[in-house]
Amino acid sequence: GDAPVKDAVPQAGKDGLLLLRRVGTTDPGSLDDYRANGGYTALRRAFELGPAGVIREVLESGLVGRGGAAFPTGRKWDATARQPDHPHYLVCNADESEPGTFKDRVIMEGDPYALVEAMTIAAYATGCAKGYLYIRGEYPRATARLQHAIATARSRGLLGENILGKGLSFDIELRRGAGAYICGEETAIFNSIEGQRGEPRSKPPFPVEKGLFGKPTVVNNVETLVNVLPILERGAQAYAAAEPKLFCVSGAVERPGVYELTFGATLRELVELAGTTGTTRAVLLGGAAGAFVTDLDIPLTFEGTRNAGATLGSGVVLVIDDTVDMKRLLLRIAEFFRDESCGQCVPCRVGTVRQEEALHRLSSRVDQDDLVLLREVGQTMRDASICGLGQTAWNAVESAIDRLGVFK
Ligand code: NAD
Ligand code: SF4
Repeated sequence: GDAPVKDAVPQAGKDGLLLLRRVGTTDPGSLDDYRANGGYTALRRAFELGPAGVIREVLESGLVGRGGAAFPTGRKWDATARQPDHPHYLVCNADESEPGTFKDRVIMEGDPYALVEAMTIAAYATGCAKGYLYIRGEYPRATARLQHAIATARSRGLLGENILGKGLSFDIELRRGAGAYICGEETAIFNSIEGQRGEPRSKPPFPVEKGLFGKPTVVNNVETLVNVLPILERGAQAYAAAEPKLFCVSGAVERPGVYELTFGATLRELVELAGTTGTTRAVLLGGAAGAFVTDLDIPLTFEGTRNAGATLGSGVVLVIDDTVDMKRLLLRIAEFFRDESCGQCVPCRVGTVRQEEALHRLSSRVDQDDLVLLREVGQTMRDASICGLGQTAWNAVESAIDRLGVFK
């Protein structure tokens, strides 16, 4: 029905909230409230540092991308800033579509000016006069709040020509996705913005060289961009000493939601913070593209989860207890990938169908031939698909078979 959606309240770890400190405490519709609570101090600091100084801070901070792939943000910015070809473009990837991921939504709904300010800083550092904010179509409230924030910032001289009288010209255009998971892939976003089918392009060339409209382009996730504010406000070193990370906790827990912790906490600490509802059997880390883990003592860092044969990805922590029907869950994941494959390359187009068919058969009768087939199809998708969708479509199924003994 039309029942109002309640604003999400973020949950804090022992170090409190930094990234999400304004969410739920300031009015997301008020620029004055944003400024009264620390807003636009980072942009002023950026102007003091100059573009190269900002990039230096971001490099020193060690910030890596929060969309899932953990590429060093400073390297991306530096590579784009150095490109002689102009114009440069900035794209904020707000097409948050990984199942179980809802952290960017909380930022955009609860602190929209933070994203506008962070995009302005990114543009200043990398020489972009134009930014696109590509937001998932299923986020109407975040869209409305960002539209309002962009228009207000523009009317108050914080977007447009000569921002804050410092000679910077930058503006943001908001574009809405239309429900396709694949349109969160960065090069599919370019095609979508350019008015073509939302299909990924082959990489390399990477966007930093040849991206939107064939020009050097910085693509950053929402959470990544917003991290630049505390980096500039506190300085790179102080930031790195207590680096914040958002986690999307769902499934068999008492308090699902977005959690902000500093890196270093273990999976067990996070699950206990959220309150388990029964016996935790496993956790799906990284969403549908991620993997199931059973060891709760792994550190929640990009490296720690990689060492455990999983991924932190976009911060999905989906807790599985004894009551979950794993065969049904795997089938649901396989359906998702089959549905969302763009169909451009054969390994993924055919592989996602074959994977779902085999899981269907296996859910009623375990046959070793089907298990062999699943592995062969999965490996082919991983090795030969053009983009991350096909490359990761077998991860969760493989980890469930190998680590949880599903189909034994
Ligand atoms: P990727 O590793 O190909 O690239 C990561 C980023 O680094 C990209 O921006 C890429 O352009 C850049 N990059 C990589 N190598 C580079 C180089 N040599 N020079 C310059 N730039 C370089 O990963 P990807 O396919 O962009 O993303 C996959 C991730 O997306 C997965 O980890 C998955 O978890 C995540 N994902 C997130 C969501 C979500 O909703 N947040 C949805 C689907 C997938
Ligand atoms: Fe499309 Fe799948 Fe190929 Fe990616 S891997 S380009 S989603 S068919």
